[in-house]
Amino acid sequence: MFTLQTPLSQFTPIGKTAAPHLKKLGLSTVEDLLFYFPRKYLDFSIITPIGKLKPDTETTASGRIEQISNRRSWRKKIMVTEAIISDDTGKAACIWFGQPYIGKMLKAGDEIMVSGKVSFGDYGMQFAGPAFEKRSNDPAHTGRLVPLYSLTGRLTQKQIRVLIKYALRSAGYLADFLPAEIKRNENLMPLNSALEQVHFPKDIKTLTLAQNRLKFDELFLIQLIHAKRKQNTAALQAPVVPFHEAEVKNFVQSLPFKLTDAQRKAAWQIIKDMEKPHPMNRLLEGDVGSGKTVVAAIALLNAALSGFQGALMAPTEILAKQHFETIYKILTPLGISAALLTHNWQKAGNEEADTKTIIAKIKNNEIKIVVGTHALIQEKIQFQNLALAVIDEQHRFGVKQRQKLRAKGGAKLNPHLLSMTATPIPRTLYLSLYGDLDLSVLDELPKGRQEIIDRIVAPNERPQILAAIDEEIEKGRQVFVLCPLIDESDKLGAKAATAEYEKLRRTVFAHRKIGLLHGRLDPEEKEKAMNDFAQRKINILVSTTVVEVGVDIPNASVMMIENAERFGLAQIWQLRGRVGRGTYQSYCYLFPETDSAESMRRLHAILTSKNGFDLAEKDLELRGPGEVYGTTQSGFVKDLRIATLLDWKIIEQAKSAAFALIQKDPSLVKYPLLAQKVETTEKKLHFE
Ligand code: ADP
Ligand code: MG
Repeated sequence: MFTLQTPLSQFTPIGKTAAPHLKKLGLSTVEDLLFYFPRKYLDFSIITPIGKLKPDTETTASGRIEQISNRRSWRKKIMVTEAIISDDTGKAACIWFGQPYIGKMLKAGDEIMVSGKVSFGDYGMQFAGPAFEKRSNDPAHTGRLVPLYSLTGRLTQKQIRVLIKYALRSAGYLADFLPAEIKRNENLMPLNSALEQVHFPKDIKTLTLAQNRLKFDELFLIQLIHAKRKQNTAALQAPVVPFHEAEVKNFVQSLPFKLTDAQRKAAWQIIKDMEKPHPMNRLLEGDVGSGKTVVAAIALLNAALSGFQGALMAPTEILAKQHFETIYKILTPLGISAALLTHNWQKAGNEEADTKTIIAKIKNNEIKIVVGTHALIQEKIQFQNLALAVIDEQHRFGVKQRQKLRAKGGAKLNPHLLSMTATPIPRTLYLSLYGDLDLSVLDELPKGRQEIIDRIVAPNERPQILAAIDEEIEKGRQVFVLCPLIDESDKLGAKAATAEYEKLRRTVFAHRKIGLLHGRLDPEEKEKAMNDFAQRKINILVSTTVVEVGVDIPNASVMMIENAERFGLAQIWQLRGRVGRGTYQSYCYLFPETDSAESMRRLHAILTSKNGFDLAEKDLELRGPGEVYGTTQSGFVKDLRIATLLDWKIIEQAKSAAFALIQKDPSLVKYPLLAQKVETTEKKLHFE
């Protein structure tokens, strides 16, 4: 007797030889096999009477073998197997090449079913290389919706189907971990039927129901993890930070601009969160230029007014420095001390300071706001009363690094956490990936911003556009030139950017100063390239996407993207946000390499999108979930085996069911099976 845990090496004779190949697919137990879902299905469900077969159709026929033989083809020395099958309505031929075992396996008189493509042959209608099996009421390879699996190595579809069929039959009844009332409320199929139907569906309708049940399971488990995490966070103690209304309002009024409604709302949500004795865990999402920094500054100010400390961590030195300068400028006049701490730059207020001094001042609460890079999470740094940790471009940091910053408040004190990102995340991905975070969105840009002029440039327009770009440089503006990776070996983009740099330097922009920035440079060189650009020592910066992160160069007015179709739309959107930050009319030129309809359609979405979120949704639809969020995030997307980010209905359904359940039964004591499932799932997932 086999159980779900039986290793595949001990599972039937065919399992023994197949086990190493199955291992390559990540399958080691019978249970794994059951949860290895088909990639797609062939519809061989219609059985056509042989006399009615039509050429150029794909169908199934069921008949008796009249005769079958192997012969060697005279030209190519390949073995050819020929069979004639018949039913009451007629006869047809079946031909297989290079599979002489078929001629031995089948014999005249056998009742078989064949599925495949029909064409005109020497003897009338003919199946070429059809799938076949002995006639049965429950076929696996023909005469039904036939599952197709992703395979590697020497496994065949036939083998895996047989194995799965056998597993379904012998594994017995699987205990269903979904609470009965959820199944009822959400109208979900029992687990056992769903597994059976997903592999060997009765019809399309039942298949959809089975898929929905299994998708729900997957998404529900993820949402339970979020719900539990959220509850755990809510159980922690955090400093209560009262709202210093008058001072904050004064500060807002003193700004050289009026806050957008979105900024006001986000700041308000954050202030309200921080009034509670439990840690805030909020994501502030907003397009490049939407003004996230000042929202963070308001929260930091409000905390400092109560004597609390705050930290702001950014992924690069230059970004940290920029944030520090902003914060220093707007908060020191209010008597709030700030410091900058990165590996290369350290400042306490306006003074250069050494790391030791800064660390000491952080420890004794002399410094209220510290801005820095990863340097902030070093072992030796301890805050006296950290109330707010802000993480800019949060997806650039790993889970561990984010946790480390949160732990800086000391053992008892859990700071409030504000994560910020300019990466437009489709809503379904946000829910799946960050379902335990509250969300604030800056969905409008400050008024009076120049609209960026976007343009897709055809090859024959290239000279004219390059001339226009040169005029911009003549006016004193600066230009970003972005290059994609050339191939797999060029992960850091060194080759692509270098080639472009050389080309521009020798040709159209020979008379300009050009800088180069790519992933293979060491940090100092990168820093220097960025600094040279920031200080206008160079006119053009040729770069890979390392330039992506929120650097502010108001003098740059042109973004030129080479081979634009190779970039994700969300990525282009972010890159495009590097320009249009000053008062100058700015341009984003997309230079596609091909003019295929598909890449044009994608690039066109850039021209028609109102904001990054809008675009992220379109990108998801156009490219599919695997590509949408850049390669670093695909870990999570790959975790999904059957659900995808397009299943927004099921995602929302799973979310509300999960959060409701955790509210009723926080530790899932009534559902031990489910609790266990959540635990194993949590170990497997990549929430990054
Ligand atoms: P991001 O959301 O990309 O981090 P920043 O916070 O860097 O954006 O803001 C971009 C620029 O917009 C900064 O120069 C900032 O001073 C300015 N800014 C922020 N809010 C407003 C506003 N409401 N009106 C005008 N300018 C603003
Ligand atoms: Mg920013």
